[in-house]
Amino acid sequence: MDLPMIPAAKPIVGEEEANAVHSVIMSGMLAQGAEVKSFEDEFAAQLTPGTEAIAVNSGTSALHLGLLAAGIGAGDEVIVPSFTFAATGNSVALTGATPVFADIEPDYFCLDPESIRASITPNTKGIMPVHLYGHPANMDEIMAIAEEHGLMVFEDTAQAHGAALHGKNVGTFGTFAGFSLYPTKNMTSGEGGMVTTSDAEVARRVRLLRNQGMEIQYQNELVGLNNRMTNIHAAIGRVQLTKVGGWTTTRQENAAFLNANLEGVVVPPVADGAVHVYHQYTIRVAEDRDGFADALRNEYKVGCGVYYPIPNHRLPSLEHYAPGLELPKTEEAAQQVISLPVHPSLTQSDLDRIVEAVNAVAKAGA
Ligand SMILES: *Cc1c(COP(=O)(O)O)cnc(C)c1O
Repeated sequence: MDLPMIPAAKPIVGEEEANAVHSVIMSGMLAQGAEVKSFEDEFAAQLTPGTEAIAVNSGTSALHLGLLAAGIGAGDEVIVPSFTFAATGNSVALTGATPVFADIEPDYFCLDPESIRASITPNTKGIMPVHLYGHPANMDEIMAIAEEHGLMVFEDTAQAHGAALHGKNVGTFGTFAGFSLYPTKNMTSGEGGMVTTSDAEVARRVRLLRNQGMEIQYQNELVGLNNRMTNIHAAIGRVQLTKVGGWTTTRQENAAFLNANLEGVVVPPVADGAVHVYHQYTIRVAEDRDGFADALRNEYKVGCGVYYPIPNHRLPSLEHYAPGLELPKTEEAAQQVISLPVHPSLTQSDLDRIVEAVNAVAKAGA
């Protein structure tokens, strides 16, 4: 039988987004304007209460401008995970500062407090935890370390819209957070990003930096970039914001079904007090991960992904920051992880097929 491929990710966009974009186009106000301002206000109210949100053109820009606004630059060190998308370390490197790579907690794939402590030097200015796959990092410990050593915390919330720890949403813990609105993330604006911060001066500087350093036209105060979001993208994002809560619930239900039915693989645990929003549902396979993933794709037509096969401190672009560094938990995760489809478009028959496929491949390999 020729089964259709179950995609690893599937952005949900349709009539409502199309209508919202149509309205913006007919208004003639295409660039950053009122639509962006509304998106910012609604985003902060819903996902990061108590902060200001500043929209930009990507998640990478959100992290980059947030770091610049926090005063990070040449001579500074920022502790980041190596087990993440390269944008995390890139954003630090782009400011002229040095990304210092630390190891992860193997259960949750996020920064390990012990490894953070071991990475602190007199030049350390901040810690950038990533809430990887939508699971909150160990913010209790990370905030305590920051306090103890006088460091700032910058959250990479690119994958974690709506995730929380002990009732506090991610994106509200540190000096700032950077969300991504890329199509495969939990919600999208086409391309886009959002900085959230409760520091009014950081917020002001991010607004300046995204707009050539201008608050008043042609009176440029800072050397800035053009990292603005358009009203067209904001219109898509505003519609998505009304749906992301329901999508997250569906992701969590899909994950619960997989947890209950997968056999012979390590399913992702959730820390006490954590709300996981399952940007990815990531299992571990101890032996021959690549063969396992190939079998899922080719024999069972179950799309799956490996995030991320190469630790960032081993990438040609970043390895010069960490010559000879060994991060054993990171290396092991990079060899063992497979992310299965968990997105809200899955049907019950898709979920049944995923379970059947994973259990069969696990059994064949055992
Ligand atoms: C997607 C992502 C980013 C970058 O976001 P873009 O919108 O693609 O620029 C940063 N960090 C992590 C962990 C991501 O997954």
